[in-house]
Amino acid sequence: MNTKWIIATNNPGKVREFHKILPPLGIDAVSLKEAGIRLEVEETGTTFEENALLKARAACACSGMPAVADDSGLVVDALGGRPGVYSARYAETEKACNLRLLAEMQDVPDEKRQAHYACAIACVLPDGREFTVYGECYGVIAREETGENGFGYDPLFYLPQYGVTFGELAPEIKNEISHRAKALMAFAEKIKTMEL
Ligand code: IMP
Repeated sequence: MNTKWIIATNNPGKVREFHKILPPLGIDAVSLKEAGIRLEVEETGTTFEENALLKARAACACSGMPAVADDSGLVVDALGGRPGVYSARYAETEKACNLRLLAEMQDVPDEKRQAHYACAIACVLPDGREFTVYGECYGVIAREETGENGFGYDPLFYLPQYGVTFGELAPEIKNEISHRAKALMAFAEKIKTMEL
């Protein structure tokens, strides 16, 4: 297919990941920035899927191009699923988000500190077809921040099977096992079955 796609995100890290996954699928894509499109979408959805769809629909509508977008966050069992879709807006800065999470988890015992990262990817085509795929990655909320890798909540997201946090894990390994990697793999599988 020679139609160009639009990657509906302003986040350079996400653009990099999409630029890696899309070409092997025969998809030629540009980011909003590369297309010269300014687009800020209010994330009013209550699920990751809804917010990803809002972003992909808006980008498809204003560009006329097939669009792909993602929405992700941290879901903590002991906090009833918070911060969830509000992960990016839990506090003013990433550091403040982590401190708030630590404070809220202070009295939660070790055996109840399970959490997962979630990522939904939405795809919207100009002919009206749309779908979402989803990926998760399970871990535990640590009692202090460790490691400089990754971003956001990574220094607090401990992976028992690796014995380290995402903040300490090599980026290549995070990119193989993360919620985003899993959603991207599901996206790749789904797109292969579609007539584009
Ligand atoms: P989004 O850009 O609206 O999808 O918000 C994603 C937010 O979820 C980020 O700002 C982080 O707070 C959190 N988040 C999602 N994925 C990750 C990750 O891989 N590491 C750390 N934080 C993440």
